[in-house]
Amino acid sequence: MGQILPFTKQVLKNLFSEPATTQYPFVQREYPERTRGHVDINKDQCILCGMCMRSCPPGAITVDRAGKTWTINRFDCIQCGYCTEKCPKKCLSITPGYQEPGPEKYTYSVEVPYEPPKPAAKPVAAAAPAGGVKPEA
Ligand code: SF4
Ligand code: SF4
Repeated sequence: MGQILPFTKQVLKNLFSEPATTQYPFVQREYPERTRGHVDINKDQCILCGMCMRSCPPGAITVDRAGKTWTINRFDCIQCGYCTEKCPKKCLSITPGYQEPGPEKYTYSVEVPYEPPKPAAKPVAAAAPAGGVKPEA
């Protein structure tokens, strides 16, 4: 009898309390603010420097300077956050929401509007006088 009483208490508590699980996918889970979900880019700030690509352990990011694209394979990303720390322009962030599973790996790519600065024009040499330089007397 002494062993049944705590058991009955637990049964009654479970009967009248909310379930610990949610009815996914009918009820979507709200992620906590600091969830390491997926990497997002603010493409307007990107300077195509490639630091994120070089710092990514699984090589999930590709930066194509000539083609002006930033690409991530979310299936390879391990959400370590190194790219967000290394980006000199702080245009990468990890936001809540995970990559949905799928039968094939695919990449997400954005076109980056960055225009590299033009090289400074060289100063024009002073024009030589017509007829060349006269020898000194
Ligand atoms: S979070 Fe980590 S694994 Fe994912 S893209 Fe950034 S550096 Fe690569
Ligand atoms: S996202 Fe940041 S680190 Fe990556 S290429 Fe752009 S500016 Fe560089």
